[in-house]
Order: sequence, then C-alpha cells, then structure tokens
Amino acid sequence: MPLPPDLHVHTEWSWDAPRGDMERSCERALEIGLPAIAFTEHADWALVHAGQHPVDLAGYLEAVERCRARFKSLRILTGVELGEPHWFPKETAELLAAGQLDRVHGSIHCIRIAGEMLDASQFRDRAGLNFPAAVREYFRETLAMVDSGQPFETLAHLDYPKRYWVAGAAPYREEDFEAEIRAILVAAARTGRALEVNTTRGDVLCPGPTVVRWWREVGGQAVQFGSDAHQPDKVAAGFATAAQVVEAAGFKPSPDPTSQWRR
Ligand SMILES: [Zn+2]
Ligand SMILES: [Zn+2]
Repeated sequence: MPLPPDLHVHTEWSWDAPRGDMERSCERALEIGLPAIAFTEHADWALVHAGQHPVDLAGYLEAVERCRARFKSLRILTGVELGEPHWFPKETAELLAAGQLDRVHGSIHCIRIAGEMLDASQFRDRAGLNFPAAVREYFRETLAMVDSGQPFETLAHLDYPKRYWVAGAAPYREEDFEAEIRAILVAAARTGRALEVNTTRGDVLCPGPTVVRWWREVGGQAVQFGSDAHQPDKVAAGFATAAQVVEAAGFKPSPDPTSQWRR
C-alpha cells in the first residue's frame, strides 16, 4: 500500500514549532517516499498561550515557493490550520483572501469555560474543572464550528482532548461520547468535509478505528491523513498503521497522490 500524503505538517512558520524546518521536512518526505506534503501552519486568534500569534502568510508562502523550486520531485501543498474559525469569521476571511491555499483545516483547540478561553491541553491544570463536562463542551464547540459555514474542508483531530487526558479520570472511550461524535460526523458529511485521521506524530490516532467506521456509516466520503508533525523527523509518523485502519473502514487510496482517500 502506498503511503498517503501527509496533509497536516507544521514548520518554523507555526508559533509552537521551534524545531520546525520546512526544508528539512521536504528532505524527510523524499527520504521516506512520501508522494506529497502539505504545510498547514497555525492560524490562531484565540490567544491562550505565551508567544502565540497567527501565521505570517506572505513570509510562509515565499518559503513554500523556495522549497518547490528546490525539491521538484515532491508535491508541496500550501495550507493553514484554522483554530476556532467560527469565533473569528473576519480574521478567517481576511487570511484566506490574502493568499491561495491548497488545504484548509478546521480545528478546535479551545473552549470557553465561565467566559474564559481554555485550550484542552490546559484542562488538567485547572483545579476543580469538571473534566467530562469540558470534553462534552469541546464536542459541542466542534459541532458549532462544522455548522458555522466557515470555509474549511477538513475536520482536524476530532477528539483532540484525548491527547491530554486527565490523570485519574476514567479512560477515554468513544462510546461514552457517541451521540456527540456522531452528530459532528453527520454535520461534516452533510457539508462535504473530509475527516482527518491525525496520527499525533505517531503517538495516538485522533480519531481511532471506531470513529472512522462511524464516519463511513453516516455517509462520510473522504478521509485524509495528517501527522501533525512539528519537526522534520515526525513527518508521516504512524502512517502505516493509520493507512491500515482507514482501509479496513472501507476507504481507498486515490489515483491522485496528493488527494484524500475515498469510499
Ligand atoms: Zn491542532
Ligand atoms: Zn496541527
């Protein structure tokens, strides 16, 4: 089975990737025989971390052009990962009007709790937080994003809070949130989105096999793969396993190597 394209990679143009390196990520992609790579930098306006800032799109696009000139045998796609675009429709529209982008992901990282924005990675540091309720709120916010009409094509890391599960809480089970997750999948299928299987740099599939099966059941048409690498050696990490899971759920590689897998 061919390796799928890695359509979710961060470089030095993302605020949280100090070890990111676009040129070395291209070299790595060629080394492991990847057909294509998309650099989807963070476009965040919910500023909850020190040093967080949206992407410098012009500088980023110049860097992509330099890589395209240097690595002619690799298909290099442009992109962004929009954080909470439905909270920032004006900023989103301005960013997307400022340059041509091949791939646009929609992501929820933050929810609002008692009027304050909080990233799911911060849940475990918040004393007294009702964790299951916060995860439900995360899924409610994801549904709101999918239903908002914001112009993104891929639903990224659907169950992101799973990466930062609180010690001592009951383990994550998709079935405990089945109604919430299925509602999101139905909305994503209805609006023609692709479901991303994010390998979390080889650590954990977001989402896992159960949700990918639900995606097919509700009529989802396309799946795409992302490593969420923030440094070159993590490009396509975990893709062999992810490809098996997606194939077993009933999706097939596209003849176009830059493309999603389809049912
Ligand atoms: Zn993300
Ligand atoms: Zn990402």
